[in-house]
Amino acid sequence: MANVVAIVGRPNVGKSTLFNRLVEKRKAIMDDESGVTRDRHYGYAEWIGKFFTVIDTGGYVTGSEDKFEAQIRTQVELALDEATVILFMVDSHAGLTDLDKDFAKVIRTSKKPVFLVANKADTTERIHMAMEFYELGMGEVFPISSATGTGTGELLDQVVKHL
Ligand code: GDP
Ligand code: MG
Repeated sequence: MANVVAIVGRPNVGKSTLFNRLVEKRKAIMDDESGVTRDRHYGYAEWIGKFFTVIDTGGYVTGSEDKFEAQIRTQVELALDEATVILFMVDSHAGLTDLDKDFAKVIRTSKKPVFLVANKADTTERIHMAMEFYELGMGEVFPISSATGTGTGELLDQVVKHL
């Protein structure tokens, strides 16, 4: 597959919401419990004439904390294998969590371009809150709202430069 954008991050940050916004055909399968997506889902998207596949990942981790890193590594590495560009999504409402840091640790090992996407930045206040994620040391923070679409254009403008 050419031109693949993978959305990774812990559960409930809004990966599937962004996926649904980006892809024309909504292939993400939502579970009964809110915010839960099983497995990974593929969709087809277009931005300013560039066509790409979007992968929505589950982000699940279970069991004891010492097992998280191995599980995250497996998920992220699967996505990294296929991806041209990684969108690492965090939640500006929840703020930086330990699980985000665990994901960051794995994602940082990738040589592929990574965009740090602070979702749920629905308001000016939340956009300011999103600046907390500079602490991760992963470069520019892109505050977006997958719910309203705010910031997604600016993000995609940068993402498609790598496709
Ligand atoms: P995922 O587990 O990362 O795929 O997250 P989901 O896309 O399922 O979203 C988890 C929850 O966050 C749902 O209740 C969404 O409606 C909510 N959500 C997603 N994006 C936004 C956003 O931009 N703003 C707000 N306020 N809520 C959002
Ligand atoms: Mg999901």
